[in-house]
Amino acid sequence: MSRIAIIGSGFSGLAAACCAAKSGHKVDVLEQHEQAGGRARSFSEQGFLFDMGPSWYWMPDVFDDFFAQFGKQTSDYYTLKKLDPGFQIIFGRDDVLAIPADRSALDELFERVEPGSSRRLKVFLEEAAFKYRTGMQQLVYKPAFSWLEYASLDVLKGIAGSHLFTDVHSYVCRYFRDDRLIDLMEFPVLFLGAMPSKIPALYTLMNYAALVQGTYYPMGGMGRIVEGMQSLAEELGVQIHTGVRVDKIDVESKKAKGVQTSAGFFASDLVIASADYHHVEQKLLDEAYRNYDEDYWAGKTFAPSCLIFYIGVNKKIRKLQHHNLYFDSDFDRHVDEIYTKPQWPSDPLFYVCCPSKTDDSVAPEGMENLFLLVPVATGLEDTEAQREQYFDRLISRIEEHTGERFKEDIIFKKSYCVDDFARDYNAYKGNAYGLANTLRQTAVLKPKLKNRKVANLFYTGQLTVPGPGVPPALISGRIAAEQANQYLKNKR
Ligand SMILES: Cc1cc2nc3c(=O)[nH]c(=O)nc-3n(C[C@H](O)[C@H](O)[C@H](O)COP(=O)(O)OP(=O)(O)OC[C@H]3O[C@@H](n4cnc5c(N)ncnc54)[C@H](O)[C@@H]3O)c2cc1C
Repeated sequence: MSRIAIIGSGFSGLAAACCAAKSGHKVDVLEQHEQAGGRARSFSEQGFLFDMGPSWYWMPDVFDDFFAQFGKQTSDYYTLKKLDPGFQIIFGRDDVLAIPADRSALDELFERVEPGSSRRLKVFLEEAAFKYRTGMQQLVYKPAFSWLEYASLDVLKGIAGSHLFTDVHSYVCRYFRDDRLIDLMEFPVLFLGAMPSKIPALYTLMNYAALVQGTYYPMGGMGRIVEGMQSLAEELGVQIHTGVRVDKIDVESKKAKGVQTSAGFFASDLVIASADYHHVEQKLLDEAYRNYDEDYWAGKTFAPSCLIFYIGVNKKIRKLQHHNLYFDSDFDRHVDEIYTKPQWPSDPLFYVCCPSKTDDSVAPEGMENLFLLVPVATGLEDTEAQREQYFDRLISRIEEHTGERFKEDIIFKKSYCVDDFARDYNAYKGNAYGLANTLRQTAVLKPKLKNRKVANLFYTGQLTVPGPGVPPALISGRIAAEQANQYLKNKR
């Protein structure tokens, strides 16, 4: 039985742990926080239960496939509810698009906004379905060590039909003219951390996820997925050591021998690092063993950081849905202030999650649980005064749209921003979502899943393949564990 040490217990670390344990290895997960889950941790205050990070459950098939490897299903660990509407986009006080779960209702909505557009939507979504299948079956589960992995006829046919060399913005504008429909169709790729004009149109596969598969919610919050994976890992014999910080990966004769931690030395035959890649290389490895130097990271396009407020409100707010996107300001200017001229946004777009609309367990009766998120550039100077200024502006905009005053009814409030990401996750420049999925940072062009100089050191998580997001993190952990397993088999 080989021993594998996994650094970090986010989704990628937990996924790698489950897969490695299933292959018969002894797995230790070392997590610096007292709670597993990484960016998807949760906390409770005054009867409110807040998910700290992810809130959108998209691509349910990826979660299903993950649990199916172990003869399990998601329902063994949590109960999913499909949201209807999936989300709403607020363009102005009386200009709101609520996106229905039902396909014919979606057609009607498109026709109302832009007559004739439902026919084009049909073609758009058929192409998105093709890209989704191509992506899932032929692209994302590869370790991306070499372009040769993509050199089969089927894969090439798939890529050819996936508009890899067109950008999302140009592609969407071929189909729709109304600005609101364009924003709606571009919004899902904002999850991938770059402007729609910089992301390959292959990623309109996300529209298939958003508009065809739909938006789900695990009752009890996203933390239930973490708890489910943690239970599964423990059933498989994984030992999760929380409150244990890894300080160094020990290397001898180009082999990792184990990790030095705040709880002593863990000897291992192989290491999988799921903490932020930059931190692992720059802080835990001697310079001679790093894949990349600081200049490499400085030249990368990072997905944004964000300013978050977790809020408990002592009343119900009628016009909010579970997921609310406030697009009632200049989209291009905000995107410019994230990527082109990094600065605090002058008039931000933002997102409000209100899970208490679906789930009574996340707020006391008659109250509302709110999560406000403003995407911001990485590396910004982060001060309390700056955060506070945005808080007032966001609340005013929600009050304006809902027509309800609730600032005086806020009984709990906590903010989280760039400095917290840097401190809590050792995140490069306080990034929230890892590396952007631009064409030049896709597949083989992403930071490699394997260390080139230390044969038994692998990386996983949102800074390597396939990219940011919970479903990609599950896939990333699985690929890293498969590669680790292959390495250990060959060594025998
Ligand atoms: C605010 C926010 C909202 C998001 N919304 C969504 C969403 O709605 N849907 C979606 O699909 N995705 C969303 N994402 C993205 C998704 O949450 C992440 O891509 C995913 O959770 C990353 O998982 P990971 O395992 O790569 O990294 P992490 O979750 O960061 O896990 C890395 C772990 O390593 C630990 N660690 C770091 N250094 C050390 C060390 N030296 N020693 C020990 N442990 C260490 C950290 O504590 C952490 O637990 C969101 C992310 C954020 C931040």
